[in-house]
Amino acid sequence: MTKSILIKAPRIYNGAADTATESAYVVVEGQHIVDVGAQQTLAENAAEQFSRCIELPDGTTLLPGLINMHTHLSFSASADLFDLQREESDATKMIRIVENMHAALSVGITTVRDCGTWPHLALPARDAVESGLLAGPRLITSGAVTTTGGHCWFCATEADSETEVRKAVRQHAKSGVDFIKLFATGGASTPGSNSLLSQYSTEELCAATEEARRAGKRTAAHAHATDGVRNAITARVTSIEHCSFLAEDGIGWEPDMVDEIVNAGIYVCPTVFRGANKFLDDPAIVPPQHVDLHRNRLQQRFALTNRLWRHGVQIVSGNDAGVAHCHITDFPGDLIATVEGAGLTPVAVLHSVGTTAAQALGRDDIGVIEAGRMADLLVVSGDPTTDIHAIAEPQMVFTRGEAIYG
Ligand SMILES: [Zn+2]
Repeated sequence: MTKSILIKAPRIYNGAADTATESAYVVVEGQHIVDVGAQQTLAENAAEQFSRCIELPDGTTLLPGLINMHTHLSFSASADLFDLQREESDATKMIRIVENMHAALSVGITTVRDCGTWPHLALPARDAVESGLLAGPRLITSGAVTTTGGHCWFCATEADSETEVRKAVRQHAKSGVDFIKLFATGGASTPGSNSLLSQYSTEELCAATEEARRAGKRTAAHAHATDGVRNAITARVTSIEHCSFLAEDGIGWEPDMVDEIVNAGIYVCPTVFRGANKFLDDPAIVPPQHVDLHRNRLQQRFALTNRLWRHGVQIVSGNDAGVAHCHITDFPGDLIATVEGAGLTPVAVLHSVGTTAAQALGRDDIGVIEAGRMADLLVVSGDPTTDIHAIAEPQMVFTRGEAIYG
């Protein structure tokens, strides 16, 4: 007989609604949610009909497990990640990946979209979770494509022309990755790459997305420089990562392009994370002369995220876990920063890790608590729809109907 669990919750937030529902229940059968309703409609002896009944404590909220839309599971989250990526063996990277997956679950992340881990490492990790060998979040794996020596070349296939880009995308699709990550511009963590310039021509980026579409794969474009954002829009990627409109004087704003992003239904993951800003009073990590620089950069990121959201862009949340001073366990704190710093409402942030993230992934089986979806669930103390700090107070985590913590 399939195991069934009745979870009675003082409050449920389903990941898509505008408000939470008081005094509700969820029924989990096997890996799936099969029923959601109000406790008052339950029969007196309802609990007896299930293998297990969990009564969540007063003051807690049941919500969907978090979807972190931008991570690098094999990265060390240390300042020397570039050196480590080149020097560490695949075996060491794999240990790091598994460690990060366990850490993700412990803070309530039940799905991770990885934006740059070699497929020969990410795919076995994904499949181990799917087969039940490894307890971890679902992994949405990428095959990454960059220019020779370009941003993140140490975890991406290098391709320099329309023909090479097409071949790289085809190879990744053949290997079985879930989506294609395209490095449209340079970035910070790769010496020699330039965030202020695009890496690919419009034609090359369009060739990449055309091949991805042919293979039925979605695409995510890393784009800082305005030129790269423009190319990503033209190429109709599924999501733009960072979307900084970056120029010499910092993060910018291009209202016409943002209109196009909205009209095209392109998702944006603004990668709000505090990173080194958590250590501004620690001179060993942030030298005093760099404090203002770090603070200003984060403020610019906050302001951009707020404007994108107000403009109607579909926002998803990912914290770029793995880059320097940014751990996957920082994600709940970075969601709090998205409310307190970037000014999104708590519910908007919960959408960004719930229903909107699921839509961006093309997955109608996760991200929302409703009958038919997977039982990936998180229980927190407090009500995150009114006070986002609750998101950092996990009490229980379920993945595929199994209680992992709590
Ligand atoms: Zn990244």
